[in-house]
Amino acid sequence: MPSSLSQFAEKQLAAIRTKAAFREFLPLIRQPDQQLLSKEKAYISFSCNDYLGLTQHPLVKEAAKTAIAAYGAGAGASRLVTGDHPLYTSLEQALAQFHQREAALVFGSGYMANLGVISALVGKNDLVIADKFCHASILDGIKLSGAHLLRFQHNSLASLREHLHQRSYYRHCLVITESVFSMDGDCAPLLEMSELCTETDSWLLVDHAHSLVPTSSSEDVIVGTLSKMLASYGGYIAGERSTIEYIRNTARPLIFSTGLPPSVLAAASQALEIIRTQPELLMLPLQHARFFTERLHLNPATSAIVPLILGSNELALNASHDLKEKGFLVTAIRPPTVPAQTARLRFTFAATHRPEEIERLCDVIEKEPWFKARIVVSE
Ligand SMILES: *Cc1c(COP(=O)(O)O)cnc(C)c1O
Repeated sequence: MPSSLSQFAEKQLAAIRTKAAFREFLPLIRQPDQQLLSKEKAYISFSCNDYLGLTQHPLVKEAAKTAIAAYGAGAGASRLVTGDHPLYTSLEQALAQFHQREAALVFGSGYMANLGVISALVGKNDLVIADKFCHASILDGIKLSGAHLLRFQHNSLASLREHLHQRSYYRHCLVITESVFSMDGDCAPLLEMSELCTETDSWLLVDHAHSLVPTSSSEDVIVGTLSKMLASYGGYIAGERSTIEYIRNTARPLIFSTGLPPSVLAAASQALEIIRTQPELLMLPLQHARFFTERLHLNPATSAIVPLILGSNELALNASHDLKEKGFLVTAIRPPTVPAQTARLRFTFAATHRPEEIERLCDVIEKEPWFKARIVVSE
């Protein structure tokens, strides 16, 4: 006889399936040049966040192997116990330098960095004002903090300004946004936001998970990830030394979780070193995205991410399926990851895509009925 828990799960799953919101894992093996292998077939991926293709770079792979041979497979303890390998120090110095900040601090993942930094900085008597489209890890961090949350209209300074009128009722106010939005590929007006924050004695936290080029804005805290452009795994924050020290002493996801394996740190350091010596690599994903949007007469890409908004879950799933049959892997993104009725294909472009592949992708897309029926978003 099924248990009451499995009956509950079955019922919930049936409801999820009715909404075409069921999620499945698709086992895939990643190869160089954005190729993916499934059991049956090879694909070109336009869905990976490995923007520079460095997960497959010989030097990055070698750095990970060397670190395993020298130091073993795992960290063995939390960073504050015995898990703080010297590789952390050099990586954090390089990250701070990359962002031109005094200090940086590595976390177990970008998700954990957001949980840790937000819950360390604000609490019950504080206000958080976050962009409507902020990533789930930011929202979870705010929940964990217990701070009061207001959300401003996506990228709207007027809406942010209006919410800031409530600033004086709270002890501290933290404004949160992303430099490049993960599901839309558009960019926040960071300079204006940072001015508003200064005027209202509020702090600004910006998640840079998808931005390739460090911005020159003056946010108080930068959040980043080692898992995307930096080709490894982990997250980090960067800012002034005292801020970082304070967070190191208070962020629970850092204190109560094991340090990253040395190989993971070595791979990220090597990726960062490649970027430092070949900064021109950083321009290629955007160039490829621009080529794509120009070729399909879409709004010009502002980052390596280009959404094609189709509306219903079914439309997005079918479109993704059509492209898969033709050898392109482009994941359908559905609510709750994006707002209701804005299910979409999300294309990510990498330095390692070849122009002829993008050309071939465009040839296919142009002929699809769902492309003509897409929802056009004005600039
Ligand atoms: C991916 C992502 C994260 C989480 O980073 P991980 O290292 O994958 O945990 C955080 N914020 C944004 C905006 C992201 O896109």
